[in-house]
Amino acid sequence: MTERILTYDVEAIRADFPILSEKHHDDVPLIYLDNAASSQKPLKVIDALNDYYRTYNANVHRGVHKLSEAATQAYEDARIKVRRFINAGSKREIIFTRGTTEGINLVAQTWGRANLKTGDVVLSTVMEHHSNIVPWQILAAEKGFTLKFIPIREDGTLDIDAYAALLRDNSVKLVVVAHVSNVLGTVNPIEEIIRQAHTAGALTLVDGAQSVPHMPVDVQALDVDFYAFSGHKMIGPTGIGILYGKRQHLEAMPPWMGGGDMIETVRLEGSTWNELPYKFEAGTPIIADAIGLGYAVDYLTALGMDKIHAHEQTITAYALERLAEVPGLKLYGPEAAQKGAVAAFSFEGIHPHDVAQLLDAEGIAVRAGHHCAMPLHTHLGIPATTRASFYLYNTTQEVDALIEGLYKSKKTFAL
Ligand code: PMP
Repeated sequence: MTERILTYDVEAIRADFPILSEKHHDDVPLIYLDNAASSQKPLKVIDALNDYYRTYNANVHRGVHKLSEAATQAYEDARIKVRRFINAGSKREIIFTRGTTEGINLVAQTWGRANLKTGDVVLSTVMEHHSNIVPWQILAAEKGFTLKFIPIREDGTLDIDAYAALLRDNSVKLVVVAHVSNVLGTVNPIEEIIRQAHTAGALTLVDGAQSVPHMPVDVQALDVDFYAFSGHKMIGPTGIGILYGKRQHLEAMPPWMGGGDMIETVRLEGSTWNELPYKFEAGTPIIADAIGLGYAVDYLTALGMDKIHAHEQTITAYALERLAEVPGLKLYGPEAAQKGAVAAFSFEGIHPHDVAQLLDAEGIAVRAGHHCAMPLHTHLGIPATTRASFYLYNTTQEVDALIEGLYKSKKTFAL
């Protein structure tokens, strides 16, 4: 049963992504269901990179020549596009980074290093990606604060009562949480999490790696203090990401990396810092990929984040329904209504890597492993899962192919 009402003409969207008409292993059509790891790119983004390198490649900010001015304009335009996309109050609050990981490390090494000390608590969650655990562990070992974790319930949602109890300890200075889990798919109630943190006097950092690509996000409405995400998961290039921070925090924070562009004056006795956002963008920035990200934002905006979200909800709900029919398959995470476009599962008697390999032979790209969430898998009592993850160009027919592939795997293992 593949008849579902879709919010837009998905075939027209697919035509914009050249890789989707490539063959896998030279003969079978590619079915790309590894979007939580990285997304494919539309021609407009690929062309934007090409165009930059072919026609106006130059360093930004420092040059007075025409090419440098064109590159600077395009780079700063991309910042403005991102500001609008997440409704930040000012383009000074948009810092270009290499991705979510770098954004979180930047906050740890600047705000965290300046503000956290022995006796303080940072609250993370059991479902976090390693990039929202390890930077805090590294800093905690040096600064002596305590890292605690909000537990999750049986259904894969955050235990909000336990969170409220953890906040009652007045030592919590920062709450760091994923908007959407990259394994369970859980969409966390971050408005509520942020509100409660602020009431308790703590700041908030949200990992938006799995949310910004898939749903409308308004950082001012959320009242979040820091919000990090990656370009490559939102049809943009690799090597570029965004850290949003409230201006008053960014102004007060010391820089992280030192070098060109982040300074106002340099004397041998000491230096002063450039204004925002350049204080946090040391060295030649990631020019081409920032411009490419601007084109990705244009594409997503033109299609509409509401429509993309609705499309993915239809595909994910259908996938969850069909996966639940497969004997021996165990799905992790909450029901479709509380879930992003992620379906992680285990298959009785077959190792997750074998499932992924057998699907690959059918042209279906999924991911197997701990998905950089080892503590979550320890909590679930399994070493790994197989994960199918969907995006704006996926179809119900591709979900059908996934299910067929799983039945075939079962046969191969004669289960
Ligand atoms: N957080 C989450 C929830 C993710 O899914 C990922 C990417 N798998 C990251 C952080 C890290 O993103 P990046 O590797 O682009 O820095």
